[in-house]
This record gives sequence, structure tokens and C-alpha cells, in this order.
Amino acid sequence: MRKLYLFALGGNEISPVLTDPETGKMVNPDLPAQWRQAWKTCEKLAEFIVAHQENAYLLSHGNGPQIGNILLRSEFAGDMIHKLPIDVCGADTQGALGYMLAQLSNSLRVRGLDLKTAEIITQVIVDHEDPAFQDPTKFIGPPMTCEEAAEYQKNLGYLCRYYKLNDQGKEIWRRVVPSPKPREIIEIDIIESCLNSGNIPIAVGGGGIPVVEVEAQKEGNLEHYPCSYDITYQKPVDAPPAKVFCGVEGVIDKDLSSSLLATSLMERAQKRGEDLQVELVILTDVDGVKLNYQQPDQEDVRSLSLAEVKELQQSGIFPSGSMGPKIEAVIAFLESGGQKAYITNIQVLEQTFAGQAGTQFLSS
Ligand code: ADP
Ligand code: MG
Repeated sequence: MRKLYLFALGGNEISPVLTDPETGKMVNPDLPAQWRQAWKTCEKLAEFIVAHQENAYLLSHGNGPQIGNILLRSEFAGDMIHKLPIDVCGADTQGALGYMLAQLSNSLRVRGLDLKTAEIITQVIVDHEDPAFQDPTKFIGPPMTCEEAAEYQKNLGYLCRYYKLNDQGKEIWRRVVPSPKPREIIEIDIIESCLNSGNIPIAVGGGGIPVVEVEAQKEGNLEHYPCSYDITYQKPVDAPPAKVFCGVEGVIDKDLSSSLLATSLMERAQKRGEDLQVELVILTDVDGVKLNYQQPDQEDVRSLSLAEVKELQQSGIFPSGSMGPKIEAVIAFLESGGQKAYITNIQVLEQTFAGQAGTQFLSS
């Protein structure tokens, strides 16, 4: 049986959490800091890949800090040059982070393995009726005071919401954007052929660029498909049906998209009669799921069945902005035929697969 590992890299795998030793404040990691963190991640991945060359590998990654930085630049330079919509920012991060993660090839080559990575600019279809469009919840971009947020909202029309209290007990506000659910991955066949050629695709970066299918509008003998920027496609009504997609402003959760990517590849292999086992490995800054997280009686959870993880999820212990979507992604993966998933830290990868670290999720 062919085995494919999908490593979903979290914020910590590319953006280290840095603190200024003098002020104790959090520091936005600069490019060299991100590059070095990505290098450390790639070294760990390369060690694993070289030790287990019989498997296929696929990467995905988050982009929260990077999309925030791009938006910040876009805002500050707004008097000089056009601003950027979020879907385009997402596409930019896929390119830059894919380039950064392409150093995995260096880490592999110095270990004697000549494999290439290829970041695939991935568009992910979302439903234009997804309730998330009416209720934006995903925080992006820089923190603001309540007054700044009101000004920002008035001048630019961006929706802002209360985020949390800072260390001094003052309210932090941030821009929120919709986070619709991923439905289908447009470039799935390209990802698959990259895998089949023996290379390592990097896909659904930042959850993928959200696009919706455009509904045709009939006018006489023509069907029109209105998209952004006053672009309209058209075709004769009696020509074969066509699908037209158009980007929308939002950020899809990268763990949900990674889960969809894993199950889509499994289903496609199954339809061709191939035996492919996919394992979804969600890498983050904690070494697995904890019970009573950050309480004096915190406990590691090493292994959970699908029924057990669903029960824990229903008890409401996983916060929606962090562990919640990872658990949702794992459940969706196991319910769609996946057999094994993990939430762990890259430092303990081998121990996780040996059942000595991280959390392992089993379909039964
Ligand atoms: P990433 O950026 O890697 O995608 P997130 O920051 O979104 O990850 O989510 C991981 C975070 O979830 C951890 O840093 C931890 O603070 C938080 N978390 C919340 N509840 C739990 C829990 N029960 N067990 C482990 N971590 C938890
Ligand atoms: Mg994070």
C-alpha cells in the first residue's frame, strides 16, 4: 500500500514567537527570523523524509502572520500605490512561503536525496451562501484601539471587532474577514500529478484562495458570468455548460483545507482502484491535545478514537480561534475515510508516530 503523509505546518513552523528581552513585548518576526524558522522546520522534515523514503509527502501551511504583514504594507503605502484585496494577499503569501519552504530541497539534497518541492497556487471553492460571509470572524492584520478601529471602519469600510485585552487591560480591535468552509480544491489534479512524479507539492497554503462559482445570467442567446473588476465572460446559451470562478475576500482555515485535500486525494485514488493511505499530520506549537489546558491539572492526550474526539469536541473544550478548527479538521478527515491523524510538534515527530508524544487520532 502506498502511504502519503500530509504535513500541515502551523504559524510556529515559519513565524517564531519572539519577545523583546527589554520590553517583554511580542516582536513581529522579520524575514531572516522567518527564514531561519522555516529552515529549522525543513531540516526536521528532511530528517524524517530521508529516514522513510518509501512514502510520498505533501505540505500545506498557514499564512496568518504573513497576510497581516502584507495588508499592513498595503495600508501604509495606500497613498502611493493601489491597495490589495485579501484574495490577492493570500495568493502572494502562497508564492513567498512556497519559495521559503522550497529550501526543503536543500535540506534533502545535502542528505543525498534529490527531490523538489513545488508550491501550487491553490484556489479553493467556497459556497457563496456560506453563513461566514454574513458573520466575519477571522481576525487578520494589525491590532488597533477601539477609536482607531472606528476610524478605519468609517474611512475604508472594513469591519473591525473586539479581539482581546492587551497586557495593560486595554481593548485590542482588529479587522475581521469571513472564513468560509472549503468545498473543493480546483487544482487537485495538478497536486496529484506533482505527487505522482515523485516530488513534494506544497498546496492549499493559507487555506487556499477562496473562490466562488459564478452563476450564469441569461440574456437572449447569451449567458453572462460577471466577475470582479468589471470582467464578464460570456458564451452561447446552447454551448456546453461552463464553470467560471471568481475570487472572494476571505481567509479559509488551513487545517480544514488540509483535511479536504487529504480526503480528496484518498477518494480519487480509491476511484482509480489504487490503495492509498493518507495520514494527516497537523504540526503546531503544542505537542498535542491537552485536557484541562493551562490548568494546574493539565493532562496529555496520546490517543483518541473518532467517537472519543467527537465527545470531547461536543463538550466545548476546544477554542474556535485555535485548537477548535484542528479538531474539526481531524474529525472531518476520519469521517471521510481517513484512518490516522496527528496533532503534534515537529520536535517530537518520530516519538509521535511511535505513540510516545503528540496526539494520535484513529478512525476506530
Ligand atoms: P497554528 O498557528 O499552529 O495553526 P493555533 O495557534 O491556531 O495553531 O492553535 C494552537 C494553539 O491551540 C496552541 O498554541 C494552544 O495555545 C491552543 N490550545 C487551545 N486549547 C488547547 C488544548 N486543549 N490542547 C492543546 N492546545 C490548545
Ligand atoms: Mg498560531
